[in-house]
Amino acid sequence: MNLEKGNLLYRGKAKDVYQTDHQEQVIVKFRDDITAGDGEKKEVMGLKGYYNSLISAKLFKILEDAGIKTQYIDLPEPGCMLSHKLEMIPLEVITRNIAAGSLLKRFPFQEGQTFDPPIIQIDFKNDEYHDPMLNDDIIFALGLATSNDLDIIRRITLQINGVLKSFLESRGLIFPDFKIEYGRDCNGNIVLGDEISPDTCRFWDKETRDVLDKDLFRKGESGVIEAYQKVANIILDKEDKKKWSLDF
Ligand code: UDP
Repeated sequence: MNLEKGNLLYRGKAKDVYQTDHQEQVIVKFRDDITAGDGEKKEVMGLKGYYNSLISAKLFKILEDAGIKTQYIDLPEPGCMLSHKLEMIPLEVITRNIAAGSLLKRFPFQEGQTFDPPIIQIDFKNDEYHDPMLNDDIIFALGLATSNDLDIIRRITLQINGVLKSFLESRGLIFPDFKIEYGRDCNGNIVLGDEISPDTCRFWDKETRDVLDKDLFRKGESGVIEAYQKVANIILDKEDKKKWSLDF
């Protein structure tokens, strides 16, 4: 897709956002940059943006079909997602079904311990302060969201977890945890934004327990892009693959 120069609205660590001719629509461009550890570890990994855009578009579509509002409008081509323009809320909303990652370093949970109901953790999206964990009072004092906003965010997040967890389980994937971000659309509604991909979720193979997400990169292991491709292969339907002439 031809992106006119000069209309870049935002450049993040792995995605760019471009204005379109339509005031309320943007193109989210998924880049091949991959980072970890507060952006300290950095690489470019060919096809990462391609797979992440296909995976995110598919999961957003599944959520839309379940009645959850997302930024997703269309995927005109892999790598570029046409989306509703949102004013992003700088919160990282993490849902945990199984204890993994940083949670084990910070709290005395057992590795692999399951959480039912799941844990919702909200961090401040702020590189300068290293994304610290928040509580409701700090969120209010910083003016990031109201009590009503948080009620909505928690309710939608639990719904998203339910929909994605059962879909992924049906495809043979375990869904230990994931991070999502919300924004406000032009009507002030809270809408799911950002991405849902192996960059922002943990996915484990139910049979082999193989890790199929960014943890491979975080730990310096090989097969990162092969894992992302495998997730795309598992999540996409025949019709999606036919549309993009994917032969994996
Ligand atoms: N996560 C993310 N961005 C962040 C921090 C976490 O997408 O800045 C995701 C991560 O991929 C995982 C979940 O949120 O699926 C929980 O991450 P955790 O707190 O365990 O941190 P990590 O161990 O990944 O640093």
